[in-house]
Amino acid sequence: MKRRVLLLGGGLAGGLSALALHARRQDVEPILVERGDRFGGNHIWSFFDQDVEAGHRWLVDAVGPTRWPSHRIAFPARRRHIGLGYNSLRSPDLHDALLRTLPASSLRLGREAVEVTPEGVRLSDGETITADAVVDARGGGPIEGLDLGWQKFVGRHLRFAVPHGVAEPMIMDAEVDQADGYRFVYLLPFSATELLVEDTYYSLDPALDVGLLRQRINAYVDDRIGRRFETVGEETGVLPIVLGGRLDALWPDDYPFGRIGMRGGFFHPTTGYSVPDAVANAMLLTEASDMTTSGLRRLLHDRAKRLWRERGFYRMLNRMLFHAAPPRQRYRVLEHFYHLPEASVARFYATRLTALDKLRTLSGKPPVGIFAALSAIAGRA
Ligand SMILES: Cc1cc2nc3c(=O)[nH]c(=O)nc-3n(C[C@H](O)[C@H](O)[C@H](O)COP(=O)(O)OP(=O)(O)OC[C@H]3O[C@@H](n4cnc5c(N)ncnc54)[C@H](O)[C@@H]3O)c2cc1C
Repeated sequence: MKRRVLLLGGGLAGGLSALALHARRQDVEPILVERGDRFGGNHIWSFFDQDVEAGHRWLVDAVGPTRWPSHRIAFPARRRHIGLGYNSLRSPDLHDALLRTLPASSLRLGREAVEVTPEGVRLSDGETITADAVVDARGGGPIEGLDLGWQKFVGRHLRFAVPHGVAEPMIMDAEVDQADGYRFVYLLPFSATELLVEDTYYSLDPALDVGLLRQRINAYVDDRIGRRFETVGEETGVLPIVLGGRLDALWPDDYPFGRIGMRGGFFHPTTGYSVPDAVANAMLLTEASDMTTSGLRRLLHDRAKRLWRERGFYRMLNRMLFHAAPPRQRYRVLEHFYHLPEASVARFYATRLTALDKLRTLSGKPPVGIFAALSAIAGRA
């Protein structure tokens, strides 16, 4: 008899875990439950080459990322071409990969988990599924108890009648008016005539004025690209950026299930990217010896605790980014960070900064006033 693992939530983390368990554990039957009408929702999920271990790359390749060999950044006092590969996964490709790979008996689409116990779930259509292990992958949930800032954005998919001329991803173009905190524009050229343009803000206020950001995107494209386009898609996001607090807020003692994805705090503290952790957790599940609800909870909680300890530096950097300077000057923290060599930049995104990298991130001419920086750093870890 196969061990049955129920994954609640067919988004990025649940979807990748289902693919990994199906591929690597013949003794396990993953079952993926998604309340939406598509697995993955409506997202583009990006990551840098070094964010995913070489031995885990097959998992993202199973979805079929678009890959660019290099990317750019631009700040008022620093522009760089960076030879680190950048990748994007699209949610329709995750949906297709799941339908192509897993048997229909493993997939439940358009069904909500309405009653969940450590032994199984009751779905909105009345079906009851029993399982050896239940894992919660239901995306961002309530996160009281954490000190948060927000990364909020509107992204528009544009189609041009003639080539737009953007050759490689622009990860941060901060040469724009710094309204409402650190602001940058992000560009992904999916083809010569197809471009994703995102207007992003690091703000203490989660409110998103979608209409205003649309206007700013149009103004940016008119100014920098100056070619006619039509808008073929849009996504919006308000992602938490953790400044401090306690991990227990995401892992209450009385919560019996292991969590993956945003719900378990598995995202980059400064950028909000969650592909790297989603891949690492999916692979961790394939190595589990105790395939029970409590066994997987222990395994995932242990990893969450370790990452929380290791990532304290990022939370400190976030406090500088949000509190150490007036909103219009906050970009300087990242502008300064980008003086580091490419290998350090790669380690920053992969959350593997060395002690020397950390020292160099903070050394040199201070990007913000030293007293404000010290007071921001002294905030809750
Ligand atoms: C617009 C946007 C863009 C982003 N871009 C990036 C990016 O470029 N790179 C990156 O790494 N990260 C990105 N993120 C952040 C993060 O990676 C995504 O939010 C990611 O989708 C989180 O993965 P997840 O599996 O935790 O949650 P989700 O992908 O949101 O999946 C959770 C799923 O659970 C389902 N669900 C919830 N409750 C139930 C229930 N009761 N029963 C059944 N199903 C349920 C939901 O419908 C959803 O599909 C982005 C986020 C947003 C909002």
